[in-house]
Amino acid sequence: MAVSLAVLDRIALMAVMTDEQDQVTYLNAAAEEAGALEKGDVFSPTKRPTGIRPVKSPHPVTSRFTTAIDTNSAARLIEWTVSPLDGGKTLYTGQDVTRDRKSWAILKDMARSANDASQAKMRFLATMSHEMRTPLNGILGMTGLMIDTDLDSNQRTYAEAVRESGMALLGLINDILDYSKIEAGHLELEEQVMDPAGLLQSIAELLSPRAAHKGLEIASFVAPDVPARLLGDEARLRQVILNLAGNGVKFTEEGGVSLELRVVGQNDAVPVLRFSVTDTGIGISKSNIDRIFNEFAQADDTRSRGYEGTGLGLSIAQQIVKAMGGTISVESEIGTGSTFAFEIPLPAAPDQPRTEDELKFDHPVVVATDNAFLRRMLMLQLDAAGISKVMFAETPEEALGLLSRSPRAALLCDLKFAASDGARLAKASPRAIVLLSPVARGRLEAFRRAGFSSYLIKPIRQSSLMERLTDAPQRAPRAERLDSKDVGTGPSTSRKLRVLLAEDNQINSVLATAILKRAGHYVDLAGNGREAVETFAHAPYDIVLMDMRMPEMDGLEATRRLRSQGATDTPIIALTANASTADREECLAAGMNDFLSKPFDPNDLIAMLERWTGQLEEAPRAVS
Ligand code: ADP
Repeated sequence: MAVSLAVLDRIALMAVMTDEQDQVTYLNAAAEEAGALEKGDVFSPTKRPTGIRPVKSPHPVTSRFTTAIDTNSAARLIEWTVSPLDGGKTLYTGQDVTRDRKSWAILKDMARSANDASQAKMRFLATMSHEMRTPLNGILGMTGLMIDTDLDSNQRTYAEAVRESGMALLGLINDILDYSKIEAGHLELEEQVMDPAGLLQSIAELLSPRAAHKGLEIASFVAPDVPARLLGDEARLRQVILNLAGNGVKFTEEGGVSLELRVVGQNDAVPVLRFSVTDTGIGISKSNIDRIFNEFAQADDTRSRGYEGTGLGLSIAQQIVKAMGGTISVESEIGTGSTFAFEIPLPAAPDQPRTEDELKFDHPVVVATDNAFLRRMLMLQLDAAGISKVMFAETPEEALGLLSRSPRAALLCDLKFAASDGARLAKASPRAIVLLSPVARGRLEAFRRAGFSSYLIKPIRQSSLMERLTDAPQRAPRAERLDSKDVGTGPSTSRKLRVLLAEDNQINSVLATAILKRAGHYVDLAGNGREAVETFAHAPYDIVLMDMRMPEMDGLEATRRLRSQGATDTPIIALTANASTADREECLAAGMNDFLSKPFDPNDLIAMLERWTGQLEEAPRAVS
């Protein structure tokens, strides 16, 4: 290779030439200016004169290496490229990479501190949201108690507004806690045997009062080929579907929300399931659809303003679905509605429940409703039940016409038609069933008098539908015959319990005491764990409610002491603001039987007492 030295003199790179003994024979102008090498110095990747230090090179081969040199002005990093020349000579060209390396180091530093900061932020969020639950327990609980007292209508409205805002705040805190857990990589999925139809139905039932309040329908449908028992994390699935369905109710003013589940394929013999939530609501514009999954993002057009929310729900849902091996997608049209769906593989549980003898109904069914949403859902359900002759009537007159031509047909009649033409319609069918929303239960007697033989509460369970149609003995308690007494469901325990409550927060102890006393129980208070252990030694208690964090002695230590001092049979229930799996496991390990998350619903507290004093053999709830 012939090199024109004159050219080398004009380039900005350093150029150094050595002979076969590695001695420098030539330096270009840039190399001379740097001042670290002189003619006669020995220079090669392995031999460097003083003033030149090797640097851990990113290039392990000797065609390139990096050195630090002390130039006349400052220390610089030089990256050398080696080019062998004829006759054992070598040309080294050196490029100053000081700036690049520095920037890299700075970037690395920045990344590290950003990561530290984000971890700290997550820890902060987790701690704060946890701490906020305790005072919120007081706010929600006390307001609940206040609402149950004699208030005039203004006071009631104000108290209800406080409670609603408190509930919204609790939702936000739960979201933040979840979000911080997921961000910190603490999303642990569990695998339990779960009943998918029950899951979807319970979510629809949970949201149905809210939907009914807005005049919306809500219904669930599980295709018949979905295994009755699946293996999956039920609590996390519930969270995702509840979020999607809750949004559906929130962003819909007319029509309804459906929750559907179908098998869409097989992946190594594991069924791939598609969960979908469809609403007939405001829809989402194309420009917003990509951003709504980002945290704290809300569709920014005027239509969705006025709906409260944090914009965390979808981002959490997406992370959970991702962890389950799927993705969430959305299809939406402004003014028509949205479908949020995700597909995940979920194995069928090894033990499937015995399929009960399928109920068969051989007569036609007339569905009388002008609500398109309800028609569609009933069609899916009746079709899945194998009922082939289904007729739809969009007016009472149409229904009467159909029934007169099929005198043995059953009638499924919505509330509106039952209210306007109930007597005529009920008379026209040997099996007239009225479909009620949960808020319309009070009108049962009127419908019975009109001639309806039974009723179904929406959202309608598949099993209840068939039981009503075939008149099979009732399994589900929600579908009742109109001629049976409509008994109210109240707490069943009448026994007065002696409860020891260990709680250091005064407001929370006043709250729990009020709830317990109102339910007719006796309560003794202990301000910390030590007091609880001492009080317990003097008097027998039926059950102990134990706060986790207390001064002097915490709930865990107090429980261990109680257990070691012979209180082996008394149920001890943790009252905890901690929702994490680890904390709950710690409670159980210390000898507690169960736990109740703060803020708790008064009904949950009473139900917990009943569960543990009525049937002590019951196992603790699954840790979620
Ligand atoms: P939030 O509802 O708490 O604001 P989400 O993350 O659940 O947070 O939803 C983010 C945004 O996506 C909502 O604010 C809303 O603008 C939009 N969105 C979600 N679901 C629907 C829906 N079913 N219909 C219309 N818009 C929706």
